[in-house]
Amino acid sequence: MEFFKEIQSLKAFLSQKGNSISIGLVPTMGALHAGHLSLIEASKRENQLTVCSIFVNPAQFNNPKDLEKYPRTLNRDVEMLKNSGCDAVFAPDAKEMYESEPTIKFDFGELDKILEGKFRPGHFSGVALVVAKFFHIIKPTIAYFGQKDFQQFKIIERLVTELKFDLQLKSMPILREADGLAMSSRNMRLNETERKKATVFYQSLSEAKKLLNSGKKISQVRDIVKQKCESVDGIKLDYFELANVENLKPTESVTDKTILLIAGFVGEIRLIDNLLLNEN
Ligand code: AMP
Repeated sequence: MEFFKEIQSLKAFLSQKGNSISIGLVPTMGALHAGHLSLIEASKRENQLTVCSIFVNPAQFNNPKDLEKYPRTLNRDVEMLKNSGCDAVFAPDAKEMYESEPTIKFDFGELDKILEGKFRPGHFSGVALVVAKFFHIIKPTIAYFGQKDFQQFKIIERLVTELKFDLQLKSMPILREADGLAMSSRNMRLNETERKKATVFYQSLSEAKKLLNSGKKISQVRDIVKQKCESVDGIKLDYFELANVENLKPTESVTDKTILLIAGFVGEIRLIDNLLLNEN
């Protein structure tokens, strides 16, 4: 497996491979887990070359403490990627990606003002900026993302459409721990008690889904979720929302296009999760 810290050396490696090779890109912030590796596997199945980027992108952190405390496990990540058969890792430092403070801002209209956008101002602009840079540098054939960051995927779809990037996007299923908790790099920061409490988000989604599918009123389900989360000491619910899976517009109707999204804190750690109503 090749390892690059510099844009120029990665570009030289890719250009040696020629124009006709298919490249799969898996952008990550490192602290890898099986969810990330499932994206690598998908890319390996469908491309001749798989590149994984590892970059804790300062531009997408609205909270400096969150950036500082974000887990960084580069040596372990590189070992995991080697074992997964990834072909190249791109792990630039912040100076390599941002020579100076970025001035470009993205505005995705309503899409970046709702859900995560409402609680993390500027977050999606930072995500779009770094992903656009990766697309320019790596020119992937297919880029892989996880459904866990559902709104992020919608943002990147818009980015690709509006900037006419010539590539395909794929959204892959959420990998979960045995008790349902969505795998996340941030889970590493949970202590044992918090780790147990963190399952409340998935449990709430599952219960809400069951209740909605059996005809319970949305307003009642909202109350149940709120109560369920608030009854656990140290849990703070940011939102529980129903949205249309195509455009993420909030919805008050239950159809097979409805997605349930949840976000909140376990102690100091903010987690997100989602569930499609028609998912098994
Ligand atoms: P991150 O390193 O958290 O920025 O995530 C990098 C990519 O992995 C994103 O596209 C995420 O949506 C995806 N990802 C994160 N967690 C999971 C998971 N539990 N299952 C599948 N994909 C995931």
